[in-house]
Amino acid sequence: MLTIFRRHTKDCIAHHHGRDPGRTYRRCQCPLHAEGHLGGVMHRKTLDTSSWTRAQELVREKEARGTWHDPDEKLQVTVADAVTAFLQTLTAQSNGKAKSTTRKIRTALTGVNPQWALKTQRKVSAGLLDFCRDRGIVTLAQLSVPLLAEHAASWTCGPRHRSKRIQVLRRFFQFCMVAEWLEKNPALGLEHPRGRATTVPPKQPFDAQYLPEEGPEWKATLQQVQDHPKLLAFTLLMRRAGLRISDAVTFHPNRLMADGSILLYMSKTHEPVSVPVHPQLRSALDAIEPNAAGYYFWSGESAIATATDNWRRRLSQVFKNAGIEGGHPHRFRDTFAVDLLLRGVPLDQVSILLGHSSVKVTERHYLAFVAARREQIANSVRRAWASGTAA
Ligand SMILES: [Zn+2]
Repeated sequence: MLTIFRRHTKDCIAHHHGRDPGRTYRRCQCPLHAEGHLGGVMHRKTLDTSSWTRAQELVREKEARGTWHDPDEKLQVTVADAVTAFLQTLTAQSNGKAKSTTRKIRTALTGVNPQWALKTQRKVSAGLLDFCRDRGIVTLAQLSVPLLAEHAASWTCGPRHRSKRIQVLRRFFQFCMVAEWLEKNPALGLEHPRGRATTVPPKQPFDAQYLPEEGPEWKATLQQVQDHPKLLAFTLLMRRAGLRISDAVTFHPNRLMADGSILLYMSKTHEPVSVPVHPQLRSALDAIEPNAAGYYFWSGESAIATATDNWRRRLSQVFKNAGIEGGHPHRFRDTFAVDLLLRGVPLDQVSILLGHSSVKVTERHYLAFVAARREQIANSVRRAWASGTAA
């Protein structure tokens, strides 16, 4: 036997002056659920309808059949189940990606902790699940493009964050399609804020105005790390070899090649791509010893994401002490790339060192610095001509 009951939305309860109008209240459009035993199995589930007549029909069918689902019917997956499954795969394959990234994805889907939301000064946008709860949306199939657009319209964030949220939704629904829960990706109907889709934020190397000589930001950084051999080696590994922070954390001496270079990665054609060890980095590495597990900066036991977060925190302290505004570990890699470009290393070679899939990616990210390089060359030519006439 199944009992039908109504589960009221926040809006409905607010409409009734904060009092829940009760499970049998009929004069609202809140979603209907049913609970009880079918074939000896306890169920408490949504009926995906707000009409009592339809609900009674459905319950009669289910009771006659003795099962909740019609075996011939397509499986209806709830948004909540899909979000849980998606977040699980996300944390399972976490590969040194910042915890903050995972947290942002989680927030976009499940919303923020309500206690925190009360305390913070920041404007908080509802997560997808918050929205579904308020609207009485239960299954994935119910999420249409107009509904998602309505959800997106309620966000209070700026264009950049909006764009990220749209990406998260697209990724989530893509996941649902791969799982064959959905046939279309409704988030593809959401438009990116104007001008965001194609532009890439410019790279921000340290000392952009001083390169290729070392500028004050780098000097201040070195000053903060020079008395800490491990921190120094770690910093140089990012700045002088362009490693990503997670690759620097898991750096193993077996990446030092016989010819005195660092193995960056194996190319698609199985050839090693390496970068010569900068003399500064060489001596910093010579000054430290790998641990029993063979690593310099990682126990080899903790999760890579955790170790990476620890180093990230340490570096942000360095930036803070060095008085660098907007300091971010990734900027070492940017500095590595721009430094090489301005020293005349061709773009396609820098692209290989960065491990980009195509030189176009590199060009898009470092466009400003490619232009700066061109200007450098033009100036040298002009200088050469000028001295030519003087002679
Ligand atoms: Zn209601």
